[in-house]
Amino acid sequence: MSRLFHNIREECGVFGIYGHAEAANHAYLGLYALQHRGQEGAGICSSDGNSLYLEKAMGHVSEVFSEKRLKRLPGMAAIGHNRYSTAGGSHLKNVQPLMVNFSLGSLAIAHNGNLTNAFALKTQLEKEGAIFQSNSDSEVIVHLIAHSREETAQDKIIDAVNQIKGAFSLLILREKELYAVRDPHGVRPLSIGLLGDAFVAASETCALDLIGATYIRDVEPGEMVRICDNGIDSIKINPAKKKAHCVFEFIYFSRPDSNIFGGVNVHTVRKELGRQLALESYQDADVVIPVPDSGVPATLGYANESGIPLDFGLVRNHYIGRTFIEPKQSIRHFGVKIKLNPVRQILQGKRVVVVDDSIVRGTTSKKIIKMIRETGQAKEIHMRISSPSTIGPCFYGIDTPTRGELIASTHMTDEIRKFITADSLAYLSMEGLRSVIPNPDDYCYACFTKHYPITFPQEEQYSQLELSFV
Ligand code: AMP
Repeated sequence: MSRLFHNIREECGVFGIYGHAEAANHAYLGLYALQHRGQEGAGICSSDGNSLYLEKAMGHVSEVFSEKRLKRLPGMAAIGHNRYSTAGGSHLKNVQPLMVNFSLGSLAIAHNGNLTNAFALKTQLEKEGAIFQSNSDSEVIVHLIAHSREETAQDKIIDAVNQIKGAFSLLILREKELYAVRDPHGVRPLSIGLLGDAFVAASETCALDLIGATYIRDVEPGEMVRICDNGIDSIKINPAKKKAHCVFEFIYFSRPDSNIFGGVNVHTVRKELGRQLALESYQDADVVIPVPDSGVPATLGYANESGIPLDFGLVRNHYIGRTFIEPKQSIRHFGVKIKLNPVRQILQGKRVVVVDDSIVRGTTSKKIIKMIRETGQAKEIHMRISSPSTIGPCFYGIDTPTRGELIASTHMTDEIRKFITADSLAYLSMEGLRSVIPNPDDYCYACFTKHYPITFPQEEQYSQLELSFV
């Protein structure tokens, strides 16, 4: 889900389970496995067959849920949500699941993705008397369901889903049923699994693994899956002619142990991206090091292909948490130093290839190279990026800044090299990326090409972001 209007920057994780005596506890574990998809807030809504119960708060899953709190979530069904942390403006009211009462009972939703027509829908709904409590586009879905003139809850949901555009992997919980819905292009992942007799739905399969569920299949693009006491039903709503899975899920966002978009393993793809990168831009060097953690699989591929030894020249602190407070006065601007520290024994006097998955603003690479040169005392630093230049903002749910802030949208590669102070810099080519991705035509590459597969009905909503449509 994303916030409306400004700062369209959110990624999220969703998890649902139906037909298990410990539904909320499993949702808690599922969210734990999906923590990387969102760290700002977390929530779980459960159903005991008669009523829905909701607990949510700001913070990591482990901070939000105590044993006591989980006990307040009874029943055999639950959905959960992790919300991504955004720059400023974070409020509990935006944390999901969102729960409402409407004419046919209660309903809760958990949404991953980003609607492209939320502004128009919200404006229309407000004209019709809807009062919005959050500034999240996911609330639009709730109002559309509540306002629908269809008779049954299922038809109301279908009616709502047919009106929204953009990216959505959606879980909807009612007293006696759970819906899992995926947008027509299948932008964000959503998989279904089985845990004993219970059905499970999760953004990524790493959540199924944690609770011991078996992966069955993905929710298909444009499909709505309904789970109730009688089992599972599939309702085809509106699949698009062309799929547009988010390629950035492979490059950066999903966990490497997850299998997404039809069961493709993320680690394997990342490793192949690194191998392809080495084929395209080999650099004679003494050592190749990853920017941990997301750069690790690509570095492995790069090292295997190039024959240059891999080592871990940067060590990451995994315990930074959201409560970190940067000292105000003398030792400001820790930046990347809080997260990463170079190992001089590995880097000193060496020609080093550094592999990262992406350059967005360029500030991370610049700081990393500075520390590898100054603290690590490396002789040469060659930056290799396992994706093409990021030139277009994402409007479908990945946190990328506005176009003006994307360094590659306004600078040539050599200018970026100078900015980050590397001895050389190379990105993976688009052809190289496509050669690694299975069924490459089924993907959205808009962040690298500015070819946006899902259109924007309200250009004015995005004009402030200096988007140039291609
Ligand atoms: P930047 O300093 O803006 O160039 O950020 C690049 C770094 O951020 C790389 O190390 C990436 O692994 C990481 N990164 C890329 N995309 C995202 C994202 N959507 N959210 C958080 N970090 C990201």
